[in-house]
Amino acid sequence: MDTARIGLIGLGTMGAALALNIAEKGFDIAVHNRTTSKTHRFHDAAGDLKPRITPTETLREFVDAIARPRAIILMVPAGKVVDDQIADLVPLLDDDDLIIDCGNADFHDTNRRATALTNPFLGVGVSGGEDGARHGPSIMGGGRREYWDRVADVMTAIAARAEDGTPCATWMGEGGAGHFVKAVHNGIEYADMQMIAEVYGILRDGMGLSSTDIGDVFAAWNDGPLQSYLIEITAIVARATDAATGGPLLDVILDAAGQKGTGRWTVIEAQRLAAPVPAIDTAVTARNLSSRVDARAKGEALFGAAPRRLASDALTLDHLAEALIAGKILCYAQGFGMISAAAKDFGWALPLPDIARVWRAGCIIRSTMLNDMARALSDDADRNLMLAPAFADMLRGSHDGLRGVVAQAALHGLPTPALSSGLSYFDTMRTARGTADMIQGQRDYFGRHGFVRRDTGEAHQHGPWADDTPPIPEP
Ligand code: NDP
Repeated sequence: MDTARIGLIGLGTMGAALALNIAEKGFDIAVHNRTTSKTHRFHDAAGDLKPRITPTETLREFVDAIARPRAIILMVPAGKVVDDQIADLVPLLDDDDLIIDCGNADFHDTNRRATALTNPFLGVGVSGGEDGARHGPSIMGGGRREYWDRVADVMTAIAARAEDGTPCATWMGEGGAGHFVKAVHNGIEYADMQMIAEVYGILRDGMGLSSTDIGDVFAAWNDGPLQSYLIEITAIVARATDAATGGPLLDVILDAAGQKGTGRWTVIEAQRLAAPVPAIDTAVTARNLSSRVDARAKGEALFGAAPRRLASDALTLDHLAEALIAGKILCYAQGFGMISAAAKDFGWALPLPDIARVWRAGCIIRSTMLNDMARALSDDADRNLMLAPAFADMLRGSHDGLRGVVAQAALHGLPTPALSSGLSYFDTMRTARGTADMIQGQRDYFGRHGFVRRDTGEAHQHGPWADDTPPIPEP
């Protein structure tokens, strides 16, 4: 009794994998699950790790099995279940027992819990799916630093290791900082996946490649600057065969993307922070549109399918690779820009280079490029990533490819919303004189909002509108 280093509640996909990972790293762990039979099945199947795991049937038994001051991981569905679980747990705890929510919580909920709970509380983002949880996830910790330090040994032991051996587990800041970083991670994941899917569409419908050939293209790209988990699994998915039909698996998968909401949370929060993340925004919208399966079929019946097929010399595979390279840099520039805005708004630490490092292994967006991003952000965390010398060089070599891909796709009716938004972002961010002078003129005309003069820098200036034009409030 009372000997386990840590406890874990919720032996579902993630909790079971995480508990085995913890035990394997040499920590004794007590486990509990709402459905008791699952607890025993889990323990029975734990093999060599059984002696390190204490299965418990009641919460009282569970709490009693953990060494004081206790540390307890929750791995249950986000939202009300977490609140209910905490409410059941707290009366059994000592004042300094630590509760750690490792699920995909909305970071606003984590902020609320961190403030409202009298017990120490951490909100920890865990990425990498079941395999990551079992063999090394990327871990983004949030809450008071002293609470993180109490479990940092466990978190770093179970985390993925980057190539240089650094554990991918870091404290991100107070309150909901860890879950916030996890949400941005997921937003970047949405954008990265959307851009890959758009290029897949061009290879399939624009160039007429078979699924197997598409798989080969992505596999070859995975040996270059695009090397990443998502490119790697894209090749695997493209090459997969459906057991029932014997044909490509992709041909039987309905083209309607699911989502659990973290991408949407990122976009909503980005708007609140006035942090532009158009690639993520577009990717969430594209998933929503993908689910309008019937409406899209009606649209095609009404307007006819776009020509789609490109002339044989319109684009090369190198152009497509360049489009993905440029798109990826721009998407990360936006994501890190949003994290930077949140650091200022919430007063969180959010160490950008460390965040890039934590994402290098174990998580879904792990990629070679994150090494360079960590270096670039170490040099100047406040700089837009697209302006950092290493990435400016890469963009110089790839933005023409992105432009060619977007232009050809537009001419042939191949939808590329995320790549197009990336190109617009790039062009906007390299246009010293934009077009918002017109917007300011319009706002001054109808609402007397005033503008700043370019030549003198004077603010609150007005145009020569008739003074008797009544101001109209802006919507
Ligand atoms: P699962 O559905 O596999 O498991 C959920 C667990 O929570 C089960 O142990 C279940 O117990 C328990 N549970 C469900 N409802 C309640 C309740 N009302 N009261 C008490 N216990 C309950 O979920 P996952 O393991 O996939 O996800 C857990 C968390 O991890 C979620 O927040 C998820 O978003 C997050 N996450 C998931 C990832 C993934 O790839 N799956 C990746 C990263 C984070 P019972 O056996 O009794 O049903």
